[in-house]
Amino acid sequence: MKRDEFSSDAASPTFVDLRSDTVTRPTEAMYAQMCAAPLGDDGLDGDPTARALEETAAAVLGKEAGLFVPSCTMGNLLAILAQVQRSEQILLEAQAHMINTERGAATLTGAFLLGIAGIDGAMDLNQLEDALRPAASPLRTGMIALETSHNAAGGAVLPLAHMAAVSSLARARGIPVHLDGARLFNAAAHLGIAPAEVSASVDTVSLCLSKGLSAPVGAVLAGSEPVIAAARRLRKMIGGTQRQVGVMAAAGLEALTAMGSRLTEDHARARQLSEGLNALRPLLSANSPQTNIVQVDLAATGRGSARWVDDLEAAGIRTRPLGEARLRLVTHRHITAADIERAIAAFRICLEAV
Ligand SMILES: *Cc1c(COP(=O)(O)O)cnc(C)c1O
Repeated sequence: MKRDEFSSDAASPTFVDLRSDTVTRPTEAMYAQMCAAPLGDDGLDGDPTARALEETAAAVLGKEAGLFVPSCTMGNLLAILAQVQRSEQILLEAQAHMINTERGAATLTGAFLLGIAGIDGAMDLNQLEDALRPAASPLRTGMIALETSHNAAGGAVLPLAHMAAVSSLARARGIPVHLDGARLFNAAAHLGIAPAEVSASVDTVSLCLSKGLSAPVGAVLAGSEPVIAAARRLRKMIGGTQRQVGVMAAAGLEALTAMGSRLTEDHARARQLSEGLNALRPLLSANSPQTNIVQVDLAATGRGSARWVDDLEAAGIRTRPLGEARLRLVTHRHITAADIERAIAAFRICLEAV
């Protein structure tokens, strides 16, 4: 049996799994690289494959240095710990993943988060400027954070002009800008530009290797030499330093160098899904995705998201609820055009029953 086959997952051979792009399995090339990787002790004198991944990540993201971390959550945490003082605030779009899912980091950082209202993941610049005013003292801002593609905004991609505008506001005040770029490669694929161009205006950037890029584990944080040196020390402190980590870094290197160019296929599948679902209007409607995340509004069906998840699961389609009245569907390497047709047909059948 080929390991790369999604159907090798005995638990779900017949499911179309749209829960997340995190379900992607390593490619055959990743397994080969993992077996062949030169190894060392990353906690002692260094692991050569991890170092190679870190250098490549820095180059790909256009920064001086990179750091391999177990998760993008840890990358974002280290970006804060390395740059923000306790009692300082971090400004970010109100639906950012760093607020929605990661705000518990405040128990470790002592920095508090202020959400700024936004549209499609982009903060309102007037409200951002208001939050930066000295009149707001004693609040000091220690970081502004951006997110692209924006998870909660249905995979929306920030316009580069917006990112540049935020950076110039921040730079004028000496405030670092961090980019939660968990899906930065999806943003780059949508914009048709190199990843480094997406992160050009920010100081630090995190990138998840284990979502659409298909590595089994890991993420990278990139930034200036001194910030990454601080993050490396802090990574050890919070238990994120590992030993023969090249086994995983090898898969990450393959993710970083070989897996970005195919993401446009995932985006095409997401558009196919959105168009198919919108043909079922008016009871259902879906966003027009720029990348690989489709949000389905179920409010008019009179059935809640939990019921929809169960009914679709019974029809062989795995999804996740997004609040009470929406579903979130994510396309990835294991989803084919035929899978999308199957998903749309399942929605149609479930809809006939409401
Ligand atoms: C998934 C995600 C993260 C966290 O990544 P992990 O590797 O799961 O810790 C951070 N930010 C965004 C926008 C994400 O989508």
